[in-house]
Amino acid sequence: MAEEHLGLNVALTQLKLAAKKLQLDNGMYKMLSLPKRSINVSVDIRMDNGSVGVFNGIRVQHWDARGPFKGGIRYAQGLTQDEVTALAMLMTWKCAIVDVPFGGAKGGICIDAKKMSTHELERLTRRYISLIFEYLGPHRDIPAPDMYTDAQTMAWIMDTYSQLKGYRVPESATGKPVEIGGSWGRNEATGRGVIHCVKQAAHDKGLKLKNASVAIQGFGNVGYHAAEAAYNEGLKVVAVSDSTGGIYCPDGINPSEVLAHKEQTQTVQNCLGCKNITNQELLELPCDVLIPAALENQITCKNADKIRAKMVAEAANGPTTPDADKALYEKNICLIPDILANSGGVTVSYFEWVQNLTQEQWPLEVVNSKLETKMTKAFNDVVKLAKIEGSDMRTGALMLGVGRVANAIKTLGLWP
Ligand code: GLU
Repeated sequence: MAEEHLGLNVALTQLKLAAKKLQLDNGMYKMLSLPKRSINVSVDIRMDNGSVGVFNGIRVQHWDARGPFKGGIRYAQGLTQDEVTALAMLMTWKCAIVDVPFGGAKGGICIDAKKMSTHELERLTRRYISLIFEYLGPHRDIPAPDMYTDAQTMAWIMDTYSQLKGYRVPESATGKPVEIGGSWGRNEATGRGVIHCVKQAAHDKGLKLKNASVAIQGFGNVGYHAAEAAYNEGLKVVAVSDSTGGIYCPDGINPSEVLAHKEQTQTVQNCLGCKNITNQELLELPCDVLIPAALENQITCKNADKIRAKMVAEAANGPTTPDADKALYEKNICLIPDILANSGGVTVSYFEWVQNLTQEQWPLEVVNSKLETKMTKAFNDVVKLAKIEGSDMRTGALMLGVGRVANAIKTLGLWP
């Protein structure tokens, strides 16, 4: 199995490339290469069996020159400070590319969430938030869901923040359940956004969307909703997978039927009419669109030459290593980078924050149409820059994001 963590060295290499192309001076590069603040806390809780559990909690706040820090909180065993720092950096560029007024952050707790009860997860979440409370807030740093956290986790976060403040602050977290101030369409936003990018890229490449085949690695929130959105757009979802393995059906599957099967059996495998395949085999299938929506470092120098898709849309953060990036580009495979492809989530997080601040609730159609407008604009901005540079889309996206943040820092100046 490939190394599944996003290396800080990868994020720094990407930054260096963008900084060079943008001709940023060394001081600016140094500032952008380090987070503004890294917080480490020990999250101690009472476990259900009466013992004490001690877990490592992290929050990294990268840059906030364009708005408050923003980014998800993930629960993952083996989570490292370096990985969270790299992910926080990607959030800074992502928010700038899709042009929402936020900076970048990321956080998490080193735990295997699957092994914890709901009560333990609630105590863990509340304790963690209380420990980083003074660095959070609707105009400081706003958490959101990420791997193994969801709308319920955000409800606990928002409630803990509100309890400590003494009044209700719905705008202190995004990705909340709709009944307590969440936005319609937030849950589906990342997956939908990926398909907006695929549509746009297909249009540019003259690829017919109707019945175009899609393989999706990962059937969590992002993978499932990407599958749903693809299916609803008339694409043919030929393969999906989860951590137990995948399924392949050249005639196409119905994602909601596979979800029902997974809910019953805890796996997407053994679905009627489908062939069981491995996660590796899924990546190497002949298809029009490949969507890695699971872990980091899935497309590497070891399998890049076996990728047969015409297009790769990175729904996960960091699924392709830099050497694989190069190999795909040389094979003329169009790669839509993570910081563009999966920016739909934070875009609707921004809509949620605005709705909370103005005490409004927008209908789903309004949210979806605003999301499409923002994603299409970001996609076209990236393609335009990549064309001017004669580069791949990742370089174009990085230049756009890093350039906007560097500009904001330069304009603000350094205090004192
Ligand atoms: N965790 C998501 C991401 O990586 C969403 C972040 C947010 O909505 O703030 O983009």
